[in-house]
Formats: sequence, C-alpha cells, structure tokens
Amino acid sequence: MTDTNFVVPGDLVGTSEEYLPGNGTYEENGNIYADITGKISINAKERSVFIDPVIKAPPVPHEGDIVIGRVVDIKGSVALVELSRIKGHLDREIAGNTSAAIHISNVKDSYVQDLAQEFGYQDIVKAKVIDTKNMRLSTVDKSLGVLTSQCSRCRTPLKLEAGKLKCPQCERRETRKLSSDYGKGII
Ligand SMILES: [Zn+2]
Repeated sequence: MTDTNFVVPGDLVGTSEEYLPGNGTYEENGNIYADITGKISINAKERSVFIDPVIKAPPVPHEGDIVIGRVVDIKGSVALVELSRIKGHLDREIAGNTSAAIHISNVKDSYVQDLAQEFGYQDIVKAKVIDTKNMRLSTVDKSLGVLTSQCSRCRTPLKLEAGKLKCPQCERRETRKLSSDYGKGII
C-alpha cells in the first residue's frame, strides 16, 4: 500500500470530469471526496473512483508496549502469562501468539529468590514487552506488576491493606510484585 493512495473522509480523490463517484465517495461542486478511510481505487471499466475501506487489523504487541495478561503457570524461574490486551488498544483482543513469560530477573529492581512470592496463579498483571521474539515481559517499573490477585487458599480476591495483601475471607496474607495501580481498575 502506498501512502499517497491512503485517504481519510474529506480528502479530494478526483473530479467528476475524470470519474463517476463510487462507493465510499461523494461529489460536491464537481469534486469527488472520500467519505470513509481507505485506499483510492479506480474502476477503469466504469470510469469510477471508489474507496477500498481499511479494516483495522487486530493489534500485535511491539517492544515497549504495556500489556495486560493472566498468570497461567509458575515454573521455577519463569511466570507464564496469557496476554489479553495491549494498552492503547484495550477494545481489541491481541492477535497471534498470546503466550508470554516473565523471567525471575525481570520482576523487580531487587533480587527475587522465589517467584511464588511475586506472582500467583490467575493473577492479572500489567507488564512491559521487552522482547517480542521470545515474548518476554518485565514488571520492574513501579506501575507494573500484579493488578488483581486471588487468595491461594480460598480463591477470594485479595485486598490491599496498609501495603499488604490480605484475604477478607480467610485472613490469609500473601505477597506479590504489586503494580501501583493494584485493585484500582486502572490500566
Ligand atoms: Zn482466603
């Protein structure tokens, strides 16, 4: 696709002396304008100009993107995350491979000995994509980390109380690498 063919509504795409106005265009004072976003196309047989609509492709994660996902497994030094959304494209599901991993060295600034102290099964995490080839994520920044979590004993959502996670049901206390947005519903 050449960018010069790409138009948005209101762009001049031709004149009525040259063409008939086709799909996605309108005519005004002898000029033909785009009515939709897309690519200018010519039907030579009809001598008409029309706009080939651009279908927005599902978003693909890029390096540096902030993503949202669910912890589906913790295996030794790696937390496996099933990605669901990219910040900036929250209305669309991620396209393609949604399996990602957070290595124990990319969890936070300080040394992590036990990954199970930082993430729990089914936690929702906010993370940054640091490697798209192997889909590696980082939660080192303050805003990154766990957004919601469940009690590992009774599955009740854990509440943040004076900086500590506590189960309101069974009073169990747990630790996580928390996002500064934990429990706020902010992404
Ligand atoms: Zn509990």
